Amino acid sequence: MLACRIHAKDDLRVEHTDVPEAGPGEVLLKLGAGGICGSDLHYYFEGKNGSFVVREPLIPGHEASAVVAAVGAGVTRVKPGDKVAVSPSHACGRCDYCREGREQLCANMKFLGSASLFPHVQGMFREYFVMGERQCYPVDGDVSLGELAFAEPLAVGLHAVNRGGELLGKSVLITGAGTIGCVTIMAARLAGAQTIAVSDILDRPLQQATLVGADVALHAQREAHSLTQPQFDVAYEVSGSFAALKTCMAAVKRGGVVVQVGTLPHEPLPFVVNDVMAKEIDLRGAFRWGIEFDWAVAYLSTRRVDVRPLLSGQYSLQDAVAAFQLAADKNRSTKVQVVC
Ligand SMILES: [Zn+2]
Ligand SMILES: [Zn+2]
Repeated sequence: MLACRIHAKDDLRVEHTDVPEAGPGEVLLKLGAGGICGSDLHYYFEGKNGSFVVREPLIPGHEASAVVAAVGAGVTRVKPGDKVAVSPSHACGRCDYCREGREQLCANMKFLGSASLFPHVQGMFREYFVMGERQCYPVDGDVSLGELAFAEPLAVGLHAVNRGGELLGKSVLITGAGTIGCVTIMAARLAGAQTIAVSDILDRPLQQATLVGADVALHAQREAHSLTQPQFDVAYEVSGSFAALKTCMAAVKRGGVVVQVGTLPHEPLPFVVNDVMAKEIDLRGAFRWGIEFDWAVAYLSTRRVDVRPLLSGQYSLQDAVAAFQLAADKNRSTKVQVVC
């Protein structure tokens, strides 16, 4: 079978390896579709993601759907042939955070396709992989494997909106109109936001955002003046840009909420904490997701949330390098997937 491995910066190889076997309570999965995320791009183009450095070959990929190929002893949740969304989150289930229902804060988290631990936790850009049955979310219906692979990013958007609080009747700003910006728009609509504005520095993502439900699309440079007045109840900073965070702090009303969703650069930032104080802004973090993964699978399987406009291309696993190149070009793509 084939597996993608990032050996170092700009060094992604598609290599042959053995098909693993499912032990008791485990499931052997055949990759359906795997979405390329910003963190995968960082590992490939920089050899690191923030402070997580590739120190041994890393199989990327944490957004995937699959088909059950075989099940180990005692598995009851899925059967061979089932179509599943795969949760990349292995929380321990025992620490205080897990027990209070915030598994994204788990003290012993293993997250797939990440170099945060050593040995690295290998990801899902490979033909076959083994997961615990708890990681598998079977679905019925005609939802495609490509759509199902959006469960992880959609869960990020749902969690961001959940962290921002109630949205009925509220005006919101989302800075960044890539995949996560777009799924945050979709989540904000589900939650009843009255108006949704989005900003980005590129035109294509802004057009995409309008297509999936943004009411106002603002170019962060050409229309910067529109973003200097305090006018939003809640702002979600999704792009990972410090300039965008400053925009959120300026554009949110007094007493508003700012949710940091994107990963900002690792360097110390000269942050205007006085805004937090004088405007009584609630500044909150949103990290991955918890129960929202379950919700995302349900919304996708009924198409209550239709992510099909976000899928820009699919490449076979052998052509992973081409897939990564297209995924990195935000003038040409939103979400790019590798498929089997
Ligand atoms: Zn991701
Ligand atoms: Zn835990």
